[in-house]
Amino acid sequence: MDTPRPVTEGQRRFGRLTDAYQCTHCGYCLRVCPTYRSENTEAQSPRGRVSIVLAFMEGRISPKETGMILSSCLGCRACHRACPAGVSVGKLVLLSRTYARVNKPWPVKLFHWITDRDSLSRPVARTIHWYQQSPWRKTLRAQTWLMNNRMLRHLDTLIPENHPGIEHTESPTQAQGDPLRAALLCGCMGRLFYPTIRTSTTALLNALGVQLTVLEGFGCCGAPHREGGDRHAFLRQARKVLDAFRPWADKVEIILCDSATCRITVLSYARALAGDPRYATLGRQFSEKTVNITDFFSQRLIGHPPPLPHPGSQRIAFFDHCQTRHESVIMNGLRKLNAALGTGWMELPASDQCCGAGGDTMLAHRRLSERIRSEKLKAIEMSGTDCIVGTNPGCLLNIEAGLKAVHSPVIVRHLVEILWESWRFGNKKPESVTNAEEGGP
Ligand code: SF4
Ligand code: SF4
Repeated sequence: MDTPRPVTEGQRRFGRLTDAYQCTHCGYCLRVCPTYRSENTEAQSPRGRVSIVLAFMEGRISPKETGMILSSCLGCRACHRACPAGVSVGKLVLLSRTYARVNKPWPVKLFHWITDRDSLSRPVARTIHWYQQSPWRKTLRAQTWLMNNRMLRHLDTLIPENHPGIEHTESPTQAQGDPLRAALLCGCMGRLFYPTIRTSTTALLNALGVQLTVLEGFGCCGAPHREGGDRHAFLRQARKVLDAFRPWADKVEIILCDSATCRITVLSYARALAGDPRYATLGRQFSEKTVNITDFFSQRLIGHPPPLPHPGSQRIAFFDHCQTRHESVIMNGLRKLNAALGTGWMELPASDQCCGAGGDTMLAHRRLSERIRSEKLKAIEMSGTDCIVGTNPGCLLNIEAGLKAVHSPVIVRHLVEILWESWRFGNKKPESVTNAEEGGP
């Protein structure tokens, strides 16, 4: 029998962080890393980040400096699949941030302060929805003295145009017969900026006969805190979600989540809360019942009239949520849906590359994020598509802001919005309004 290897002091202190010692510094990960491709510096590469983690463990740099350097990693996980030694740099960075806390700029802190609290995010969401639909938006944009202010201009670009679709206040129809019982978790980015994601999802699920409960009152699922290494805030938000779920735990068969980032986060609840007697079972139930929304619709929409839009009526291209593609091994996601439903949608070139949103990156490292996003915008332009479809509201927000900034007529839609449009309008061309028509700058 093999004698167990002694646990070193480093392993005791840093646990999985010591995986960084597996790195051979070969550099195979460099070309897939968006921050390295954009900045071309070692510190912005997966290999450089491994060196920072090693220096931190060996006490050669301070936690503050470590947090600062590692803060620019987008968490896209592209480096995981590229590494022949099996080093998961994205995860190492995430773990390092729990030791070396990242100091976020105040606008990011303020944003999360709002999204963490349901009582604050609701009125903010209502104000944003009002602004999106209001004729005042055009009037305000015409005020050059206002738009000369960089911050206000940036805010206006970030707030997406109003998406046509089901009315924001339209109540869902009642399910008939003995329906599937499901809970829906709507991510805070969608709730704030894309109200039609929720209304389209509830309408489509109800049309499919699903008896739906929308989970309310939790604020944010904890994704930004998990990525930022703030474990206390992450667990606090996870418990809030589970409190909202508690009354429904034995009543629903599945949980659907309309945001790819939130879905990855809620899948981690089981492990994160395994040691908490009050939440361990609930956390496990939540993670086990969570179903990928793309897979769900791939199966549920087969054979349901009306057919999805024909590619001739609108050129639709889809892109991957990078972390889902690289980490969760959901290689097929939208491809499966495409094949199952015969949508004829095309895949965006390099569709698995990060769009630059990267959690807080689009707010905390704006210029870096914009440089990375420009690669995605080029791919969109080259594809000749009219409409981009994705499953993560944060990415949609970032891409839509980029398209608006270059006055592109390409529209951005969440998967459920386009599915609901096609369900609603049958064979007719889906409702489409260009950014320019919507009042883009
Ligand atoms: S992280 Fe992996 S791919 Fe990158 S340098 Fe280290 S061993 Fe090579
Ligand atoms: S997770 Fe993405 S941004 Fe971070 S090191 Fe890996 S490839 Fe680069």
